[in-house]
Amino acid sequence: MTNFQNPIDPPEIVKGWIDNKVHHGKGKEIPVFYPGNGSQVSVLVEDTEDDIDKAVESARRTFDKTDWSKLSVEKRIEVLEACRQVILDNIDELALLECLGTGLILREIKGFHLQRAAYNFRFFAQYISQAHGERYDNTDGYLTLVNREPAGVVGLIAPWNAPMALATMKIAAAVAFGNCAILKPSEQTPFSLIKLATLLRDVLPEGVLNLVNGRGPVTGSSLVSHPGIDRISFTGGTVTGRQVMSDAGKQLTPCTMELGGKSANIVFASADYERALDGALIGIFSNNGQQCLAGSRILVQEKIFDKFVEEFVQRTKKIKVGDPLNDKTEIGPIASKQHMERILSFAENAQKEGDKVLVGGKRLSDQKTGFFIEPTAVLASSNNSKVCQEEIFGPFASFVPFKSEEEAISIANDTEFGLVSYIWSDHMPTIMKVSESMRSGVVWVNTPMMRELRAPFGGFKNSGVGREGGYSCEQFYTEEKTVSIPKTPLNLKKFGDEL
Ligand code: NAD
Repeated sequence: MTNFQNPIDPPEIVKGWIDNKVHHGKGKEIPVFYPGNGSQVSVLVEDTEDDIDKAVESARRTFDKTDWSKLSVEKRIEVLEACRQVILDNIDELALLECLGTGLILREIKGFHLQRAAYNFRFFAQYISQAHGERYDNTDGYLTLVNREPAGVVGLIAPWNAPMALATMKIAAAVAFGNCAILKPSEQTPFSLIKLATLLRDVLPEGVLNLVNGRGPVTGSSLVSHPGIDRISFTGGTVTGRQVMSDAGKQLTPCTMELGGKSANIVFASADYERALDGALIGIFSNNGQQCLAGSRILVQEKIFDKFVEEFVQRTKKIKVGDPLNDKTEIGPIASKQHMERILSFAENAQKEGDKVLVGGKRLSDQKTGFFIEPTAVLASSNNSKVCQEEIFGPFASFVPFKSEEEAISIANDTEFGLVSYIWSDHMPTIMKVSESMRSGVVWVNTPMMRELRAPFGGFKNSGVGREGGYSCEQFYTEEKTVSIPKTPLNLKKFGDEL
């Protein structure tokens, strides 16, 4: 039995970051584990209500009393570019820390997650360089300007599945539009983001990026419920999202919610078969299967169903599961013991409920300390089966056959979620009809996972509220203000002046 080594010496203790200084929170110490060997590697000090007060006071002070929110676009672009450079200059250390928290494969962290994290800052630098405004002239002689002003102090809540890529999208947008931010990373994966916050101290003035640590119901809910917060940007599960939105609603704090998914990957007989097979495997197994946008329900047209499923299973058996530090690894450990057990419980239940486990479904037999499972595929008894209706959030594919376009559309939309749909076909009328019928915020045709940051990303139904992307973020992270000015002095009605 192998016991994989930690990617990097872990920090003994993880604390918060307020006013560009380490902040020792008032709460409990929470253990943090490395998923690759299952051992406790550190503790984080939980921030409580008092600590959130301090973080909000610091952000408010910077927002209200310094020139941060009024920086010129040129200066703000410089700041964003400098943030990007900090990530690129520290990519090795940040990657190892991201790996320590998440168990994601180091090669992918460096090659994708951190490149994307750096690019998030460049993207918003480019976006604000072309920011546009509205101006209206009217025949009564008025000029009306619509100004966009920073929203204020924003709370950013991130999940554990891709901490750097997801949280930096929020940080970069907050900074680009002149806000002060308080970030709460997932309590499971604090290492990379706290390191980033400390590295940014030479670029961001104090109070612009504060970071608080702790569990959702303690630290997260104190942040969401704080009256000094002007926006909440949340990425996480649908159940948590409901709670967050309800807490934020008491203060009428606007929220964006990037939530869960159970996305249909629809493979038509008219598809380029090999590309569709590759796309289906990438769609469910990349990022250790822990992705909101995973193509976790694979719907395949009856004519090619048996062959497609058989070849998918054969390929799945060859996937290399193991040490995230090994360059050859394709799937690393699941992020936590609790999450691993939850995923495995779906495989156990599947048998009882009449679904058929085609491959996988067990913990890796030669690796009992880390949280490793076999990549899994199940033939669902129908789309009503639990494995087709609940988000499993792991390397776990569920297959369902379909006969016609109509049936594919009906099955694909038969879920509470609506984040992403994948369509594989070379027949244009099919592509048009099916993409127009999908009740999802994103449709990928003959490609897995294309993210264009200028375009909105987010979900229909229980997959989200609001969107992230260029203009969507501009709207969310700013307030609109309408200013009307007469171009020449007007003759006003003289109240109180006898006619
Ligand atoms: P989660 O909902 O358990 O936690 C997300 C974050 O919310 C964490 O930081 C957590 O501490 C915090 N939190 C928990 N309870 C809270 C509360 N009451 N108030 C405030 N904050 C609270 O999600 P997770 O398990 O970390 O992440 C996995 C989920 O995230 C999946 O459902 C996945 O689909 C979703 N996700 C969605 C997207 C997207 O863009 N739509 C992207 C990535 C992940």
